[in-house]
Amino acid sequence: MARVYNFSAGPSMLPEWVLKRAADELLDYQGTGQSVMEMSHRSKEYEQIMDACEAQLRQVMGIPDNYKVLFLQGGAWTQFSMVPLNLLNGSGKADYVVTGQWATKAFQEASRYGACKEVASSKDKTFSYIPKLDPSTFTPDADYFHICLNNTIYGTTWNTLPDTGSVPLVADASSCILSKPYDVSKFALIYAGAQKNMGIAGLTVVILREELVGHAREGTPTMLDYAIHVKNDSKFNTPPTYAIYILKLMLDWIQQEIGGLTAMEQRNREKAAVLYDFLDQSKLFRGTVEKADRSLMNVPFVTPSAELDAKFLAQAKAAGLVNLKGHRTVGGCRASIYNAMPKEGVEQLVALMDRFEKENG
Ligand SMILES: *Cc1c(COP(=O)(O)O)cnc(C)c1O
Repeated sequence: MARVYNFSAGPSMLPEWVLKRAADELLDYQGTGQSVMEMSHRSKEYEQIMDACEAQLRQVMGIPDNYKVLFLQGGAWTQFSMVPLNLLNGSGKADYVVTGQWATKAFQEASRYGACKEVASSKDKTFSYIPKLDPSTFTPDADYFHICLNNTIYGTTWNTLPDTGSVPLVADASSCILSKPYDVSKFALIYAGAQKNMGIAGLTVVILREELVGHAREGTPTMLDYAIHVKNDSKFNTPPTYAIYILKLMLDWIQQEIGGLTAMEQRNREKAAVLYDFLDQSKLFRGTVEKADRSLMNVPFVTPSAELDAKFLAQAKAAGLVNLKGHRTVGGCRASIYNAMPKEGVEQLVALMDRFEKENG
């Protein structure tokens, strides 16, 4: 069967280049006579993969030397508590901007540990925009300030970062990491599950400023203390070995095939424009997000009725364009067009939307 174009929000599609490399090396990784899946995480062969992965991530993202890179498990969800357990240790206060469901979960989870404040929210309009911030409402002595950098479910993104002064800025970058260059030095901590834009499920990457390490709250479980993982080079317990290897292949692809994150962004912009340009002139389909805050990665859209949405989704699936259903909490349609989605996938989607509009408009 031909491969489909998979618009899933995550786990999501991978570049064929990566899948083929993984397939080629599946039984015998570079003459070792073993699969990467079978390797001890403490073997020399595996340590080389993990070291190269970190070095390449540092190079691709431009991560400064005073930042640690951790390869953990537990998903972004675990970071919702790991961040407060490690950072909410001074004033015990933190600021959160509530721009969607993930930001809400992060806020609720952190609120179990301290005085967390919702400094702004876009809930009044179903999270269809990034709220304007009033710095006078920020908590001056907050231990950190948290944002969700790209809102996977609602399709908004921060194009301008909040200026938090000396308060450390923490970002959930699960659905936009590696989609374009970000200035890492503007953040104190970035975390991301790998299964959206960096590889496969099972790996969570945390990038954090050195001085944030080593101040976990009393009673923090060992596995949730950043210092433990820093001290053990992410090998305190067994790391997600195969997922780290896939991230390394993704980085090979970005470096060797794409040409780095500036080129990646260019590609992603052109790709997203195909869909947004269509939505902007369509009389049947409508994008649900304010233009200035549109995500390059997740594009939610609707027809005038739930029945037409369902009819469109069925036709798309039959045409090999799959997983276009909106998040179960919002309905409608959503095209997740991460790094691995080729422009042809979006062009085929738009061609189908155009046909559908002519037949149903
Ligand atoms: C998917 C997602 C999450 C949840 O990630 P898990 O890895 O399933 O824990 C959190 N935040 C954002 C922005 C996401 O896209």
